[in-house]
Amino acid sequence: MPTLTFALSKGRIFDETLPLLRAAGIVPAEDPESSRKLIVGTNRPDVSVVIVRASDVPTYVAHGAADIGVAGKDVLLEQGGEGLYQPLDLEIARCRMVVATRRGFDWAGTVQRGARIRVATKYVKTAREHFAAKGMHVDLIKLHGSMELAPLAGLADAIVDLVSTGRTLQANDLVVVEEIMPISARLIVNPGALKLKRDVAKPLIDALADAARMQPEPVA
Ligand code: ATP
Ligand code: MG
Repeated sequence: MPTLTFALSKGRIFDETLPLLRAAGIVPAEDPESSRKLIVGTNRPDVSVVIVRASDVPTYVAHGAADIGVAGKDVLLEQGGEGLYQPLDLEIARCRMVVATRRGFDWAGTVQRGARIRVATKYVKTAREHFAAKGMHVDLIKLHGSMELAPLAGLADAIVDLVSTGRTLQANDLVVVEEIMPISARLIVNPGALKLKRDVAKPLIDALADAARMQPEPVA
């Protein structure tokens, strides 16, 4: 019997995928947060879970080291999503990709003057495309974490980052000045695995689609 390997990242992707998996009849044997295990069995002998970094999920699935996974649209846009079948928006891990500056920074005026703007972000590709589409020239500074610090420390005028509640921005005296796009997590599948392991993969994808549809609509 072929084993289906499911790639997930710890934290909100794992936590929010868990109820969908449960609805599809799959229950991981352990919580990776407490067990520290990177390969986790499930109640199904033909399904296992590997725990990888959020930005590595598409890589594992594209190379076939995992057959199926869950990745944020933010990650997929940055990574290009090449070699991946994306059958389903799971509508979990919802947030927004935005441009933010320090409160009081004259973003509109700076843009209007055509002044050189420095933007710090982990999402260089998405940011470049967003500003290019607006005909804006910005200097992009690639970061790997804590984007919020960049405007406060004088590294950049603005950041491109994800927000959900806005509490982190608020705590750092930052405000949203542009909305780029809504973000949610997608199911991604290795196309070869879908063919070779169709008997396991197809019912699972269908069950996850049903579970995703059954979720309550988010407020706001
Ligand atoms: P790492 O923490 O390893 O650098 P990461 O920050 O991308 O990676 P998470 O914070 O677990 O990892 O985020 C995983 C995914 O959850 C993101 O790719 C995104 O799709 C979504 N996400 C990130 N931030 C938020 C947020 N504030 N609200 C809701 N969803 C978010
Ligand atoms: Mg994070």
